[in-house]
Amino acid sequence: MMKIKYYIYNFVKNYILKTRDFIFVSFDYFFKKDKILKIMLNRMNGVYNNSLTLEATNVCNADCVFCIYGKKDDKKFYMDMNLFKKIADEFLLNSMNNNRTVSLTPTIGDPLVDPFFIERLDYLKRTNVGKVVFFTNAINLSNKLSNKLVNDYADILDIHISWGGYDRETYKKVMGVDKFERALSNVKYLIKIIGETKTNFKLDISSRCSPLDYRGDVWNEFKVFQQNGLIGISKIDIFDNWGGEIDKKDLEEADLQMKYEPLKKGACKLLFQPPVIHADGIVSACHCRDSSSSLKIGDINSMSYTDILNSEKRLEIIKQQQNGTFPDICQKCNTYVSIYNKFWREAN
Ligand code: SF4
Ligand code: SF4
Repeated sequence: MMKIKYYIYNFVKNYILKTRDFIFVSFDYFFKKDKILKIMLNRMNGVYNNSLTLEATNVCNADCVFCIYGKKDDKKFYMDMNLFKKIADEFLLNSMNNNRTVSLTPTIGDPLVDPFFIERLDYLKRTNVGKVVFFTNAINLSNKLSNKLVNDYADILDIHISWGGYDRETYKKVMGVDKFERALSNVKYLIKIIGETKTNFKLDISSRCSPLDYRGDVWNEFKVFQQNGLIGISKIDIFDNWGGEIDKKDLEEADLQMKYEPLKKGACKLLFQPPVIHADGIVSACHCRDSSSSLKIGDINSMSYTDILNSEKRLEIIKQQQNGTFPDICQKCNTYVSIYNKFWREAN
């Protein structure tokens, strides 16, 4: 019964959001087209340049139902350490001192499978880059690694744990691997030492399961950790299709809901956020969903990051979308958010 109610609730919610977006996007597109584009272009050259989105690796040890990893046969890479340093150095030189952020997981990949992970953290800390943000499934979060993260990097880290469910079966359905106990024991150890050392460590449990599965002993335990200020819990209950590669049916088998198909009017907001530097050095215009670099705007092996940010190709993709021409991946993508959607424009 709960499940039926949940499906009806989501159906109605999706319908309302889709209708609301249709009305407001159409209005702003017809009456404020140039004004909003100008604001977005200014923003693209300003605050967003304080964030670096750099995929340290595209290798992962899970196979989440809502993620493109495992559904495409892309080549796997760990970013070369010299290339990593070159990018970090250029970013430091050209960004403002305060509020700088490096995201190590803008698309896919788990940083804890990366053999250079600690070397990368060391370099970013030594060069005083600012915050380092990443998502991990915590399967490789050994106790030794947790000790190191809390003792040596607490001041720069902002960690999000992708959490596919609060019991073994749900977790397996969502994460595609039978590693619930291992991930749980790793996370509980990290939380324990955060509590013992009383460090101001930023740890977020990013729930990636149906709200129907927010229950049971582990859920209750996590709620207590949250009440004690040891972790945050963030939730996503509607999932997107990663450029058309994720099947609605597969999501539904794990009790997850697919996002509605948005009205495509004007350029996608994600083109105005920092582009992704992939682990092989190819740079994609899309902020998070182009894992195969279909929207390539440069190659950091042979170009500077600044030249890529200011490249004609980047502007060309924006112009094409403004005129209603969407590359194949964008045509199928429901992650798309119009820059004329005032409800989502400001959200990250
Ligand atoms: S852990 Fe992250 S990268 Fe790996 S499959 Fe899941 S969502 Fe994708
Ligand atoms: S439509 Fe999708 S793939 Fe294209 S830029 Fe937007 S989020 Fe990226």
